[in-house]
Amino acid sequence: MSNAPTLRELSCADDYDPNSMPVPKAREVIARFLSPVTTVERLAVRAALGRILAQDLVSPVDVPSHDNSAMDGYALRFADLKADGKASLKIVGSAFAGAPYPGALKAGEAVRIMTGGVVPAGADTIVMQEHAEVQDANVIIGGGHRLGQNLRKAGEDLQRGQPALRRGQPLRPAEIGLIASLGIAEVPVYRRLRVAFFSTGDELVSIGSPLGEGQIYDSNRYTIHGMLTRLGCDVIDMGVVRDDPKLLEAAFREAAAVADVVITSGGVSVGEADFVKVLLNKLGEVVFWKIAMKPGRPLAYGKIGHAHFFGLPGNPVSVMVTFYQFVRDALLKLSGRDPIDPLPTFSVPCTSTLKKAPGRTEFQRGILSRDAAGRLSVRVTGEQGSGILRSMSEANCFIILPTEQGNVTPGTTVEVQVMEGVI
Ligand code: AMP
Ligand code: MG
Repeated sequence: MSNAPTLRELSCADDYDPNSMPVPKAREVIARFLSPVTTVERLAVRAALGRILAQDLVSPVDVPSHDNSAMDGYALRFADLKADGKASLKIVGSAFAGAPYPGALKAGEAVRIMTGGVVPAGADTIVMQEHAEVQDANVIIGGGHRLGQNLRKAGEDLQRGQPALRRGQPLRPAEIGLIASLGIAEVPVYRRLRVAFFSTGDELVSIGSPLGEGQIYDSNRYTIHGMLTRLGCDVIDMGVVRDDPKLLEAAFREAAAVADVVITSGGVSVGEADFVKVLLNKLGEVVFWKIAMKPGRPLAYGKIGHAHFFGLPGNPVSVMVTFYQFVRDALLKLSGRDPIDPLPTFSVPCTSTLKKAPGRTEFQRGILSRDAAGRLSVRVTGEQGSGILRSMSEANCFIILPTEQGNVTPGTTVEVQVMEGVI
């Protein structure tokens, strides 16, 4: 927290405009407030799936631990082969995976070896079985081989004492397997980030109750719960809070007392904006923004005590877009992830006509697909209203239209950002 800028410092910066913050600038300012969790816990390797490594993991062993064969064949001394012509070597034993040849290879000898078998002392080359012919107790091998071929050297994956994984690395199945391959049973990981969230709005009904006139079901708590769970957070669902200053203040206080991060939806759009702003100014400090983006223009960020606060808009699509574009990276940074991979983007032709006004970044929902010839292109999901959650369900990517961009005609190259696997 010591590096965090004060609001005074921020508001003195020339390009700080809390009423129309460009997307990259908003990300950068939020990032300056974030200090990762520091509490470390030790977990059994399987239980560490999805967690973030809290220290560099140094390899206690060479991987592989011995020189071993990459092929089924014969281990031999290269010097015994003839450059042009056949050599006959005596088969003196075998080296199977887990059952090494006990002796050392002498001149004129070969050992039958299987993939993963330890290369016997004295041998320096493996000849694959397809290039060898067995005659009684001997193996006949022609020319054209290379010293050291088909031999995996001890430590060629990883040397003892070298960092196998770095602090900040998320532990996915590949890392869990790598840790197991080093014989390590327990790993230090950061504690999970605790995130409390609630929905605001007098019109909201929780599922299970019938809808009255003018009421709608609260869906934001479900998308937020899903996105947080996928990010590996400890979630605290605080339900729906009515648009009542007393109830909201109590909810903010309770959330900030138990969580590292508080996320709300609704109540930050025009009309209600000042209300949240006043409350947050009372409870903490608020860096309150209108971001130059669509959807998701109103987005509040601030601190309540030690807790970070994200006030997301109410519209269901805006919630998901602002979560993807701002909250995700912030939560990853707070969780100790380092480095944070940006969501992958690339350029493809767009086959739809897109309406777009210059002056803000737009995140339209797109469907990326291949045509019969295997060429990738993107089309828009249809209606882009920020209340149409179906557009998020149909989409597999965002079409990111930069600030200065106007309408898009079919055939124009656009930037897309793939959604799946990220949250
Ligand atoms: P607000 O920002 O509170 O004015 O909300 C903007 C729009 O989003 C309104 O149409 C709300 O009814 C809708 N909305 C707000 N919260 C939710 C929610 N939790 N689930 C579904 N829709 C919501
Ligand atoms: Mg509302």
